[in-house]
Amino acid sequence: MAEKWQNHHNCQDFCVINVDYGIGSSFVINHQIYRGSLYGSGQIGHTIIDPDGSQCDCGRYGCLETIASLSALKKMARKVRKVYVRNTQEQNSSATPTTEWLITHYHQRNEEVRSMVNKAARAIGLSLYNFLNILNINQIYLYGRSCGFGKEWLQLIQEQTGFNPFDQTDTVFINATNISFGQLSRQQQVMGIAYLYVEQALKEMND
Ligand SMILES: [Zn+2]
Repeated sequence: MAEKWQNHHNCQDFCVINVDYGIGSSFVINHQIYRGSLYGSGQIGHTIIDPDGSQCDCGRYGCLETIASLSALKKMARKVRKVYVRNTQEQNSSATPTTEWLITHYHQRNEEVRSMVNKAARAIGLSLYNFLNILNINQIYLYGRSCGFGKEWLQLIQEQTGFNPFDQTDTVFINATNISFGQLSRQQQVMGIAYLYVEQALKEMND
């Protein structure tokens, strides 16, 4: 809602992905948020990436969230941190790493953290590729604390969505797709909630 009402460059179709503790998404199609008949659309976090992967909170195995959400990365990074802490005398070695720890060590080029986070980015890209192909939405905004991984992380997501296994010459699709970090401030994002009521009121006036 915040993107729809406050970003004046928006086209009629776009998608917002929030990569944070979990992974959520929202699709605006023809200027309207697509909610689905059971209000369950946008469950990109539960697209299955690895059927032999670990169990997700939803009960299935290998959902995108189990690989690419911050909570999954933190779980995986716990072991890495343990070894790291032993060598550097950081305090509280068995605690689950914080988001800040992950982001800092990603930028400091900790190889193990990088390989986990990069694998996560590729998984997000792969899910997005499937969505883009189905819905033909070409504008995607990324939000959430994972954006702190920065340009390299974004680039991996972009590369994966540009990769078309069926047609390497499909440059129209590649060039038409724009994946970028969302630019709205936290305040503007929160204001999005208010637009839910604005739209509801407008609808009632017109009914
Ligand atoms: Zn799931």
